[in-house]
Amino acid sequence: MKTITYIFPVYNNAPSLRPLYDEMCAMTARIAADYEHRFLFVDDGSRDESGAVLAKLAADDPEHVRVLSLSRNFGHQAAVSAGMARAEGDAIVIMDADLQDPPDVCLELIARWEEGFQVVYAQRRSRRDSLFKRVTAVAFYRVLGRMSTVDIPRDTGDFRLVDRVVLDVVNGMKEHHRFLRGMYGYAGFRHAPVAFDRRARVHGHSEYTLRRLVGLARDGIFGFSDLPLKVAAPLGLVATSLALLFGFAAVVLAVLPSTSAPAWLGIMTGVLLVGGVQLLILGIIGEYIARIHDEVRGRPAYIVAADSNVGERA
Ligand code: UDP
Ligand code: MG
Repeated sequence: MKTITYIFPVYNNAPSLRPLYDEMCAMTARIAADYEHRFLFVDDGSRDESGAVLAKLAADDPEHVRVLSLSRNFGHQAAVSAGMARAEGDAIVIMDADLQDPPDVCLELIARWEEGFQVVYAQRRSRRDSLFKRVTAVAFYRVLGRMSTVDIPRDTGDFRLVDRVVLDVVNGMKEHHRFLRGMYGYAGFRHAPVAFDRRARVHGHSEYTLRRLVGLARDGIFGFSDLPLKVAAPLGLVATSLALLFGFAAVVLAVLPSTSAPAWLGIMTGVLLVGGVQLLILGIIGEYIARIHDEVRGRPAYIVAADSNVGERA
């Protein structure tokens, strides 16, 4: 029998937890196949009644409900990571605890998993958030898509099903600045989308303030792109080339009989040369830092998906 663990990061979601649990039970009841379902709530240092509501849920349904309480608020990605590390079973589904991710979408996620896809991500067909959030999201996914070294699908949050094989790979990545969407992209394996309409928020307000969104965007960009470290070198090349050009012009004008080099030409040559060489050296240092960054993250250099007749030692 297969087991699926649903992971819910919880930060001040008290009013939606019971309705969420009810909807999840209704959804799992509709699944014909014989699965075990586990609901793992990760209380990310909530300041409202969430802890009490979760304790009640766990007491009422000890077979299905699991609760993990973090010592303080560590943030969404950390809370999900904590749940991923403790999840049991053959697959996990990551969902928001505020009912914005409709439970019924899980039926489609599971169906695609049964077809053999190992990461099934829910892709927003529409979202009912503020104009500001929609505009920033569109801009972010475009920029990240261009800069990132791995595939990060657009309009996709953390709502997804992940097979145990991929889960183990991502759990093995120990980086602290966790941008899970990128980490699944790095892990590879077979990915498939399922389109869905994201619900509006019913209770409370988004905990993703502008500051947190900027933080998430930074984790995405700096965690999955070396581009910022690599802008110095080409600038340095341009400045040094200009310096050489100006210097050459200054020499020619000085040497030719009836001309003389204007003073600014010499000054420009000096300024561009000094600036250009510094930028080039910053670029070289950037290259080393990018490599150090790569090494300290400790992501696997490659991940084997399957083998035939190879055995352990290969
Ligand atoms: N969340 C969390 N820790 C935080 C902030 C948010 O665990 O510090 C959870 C929150 O309880 C919810 C999910 O992350 O289940 C998404 O948060 P939210 O609904 O505020 O973000 P949005 O839906 O606006 O992206
Ligand atoms: Mg939400």
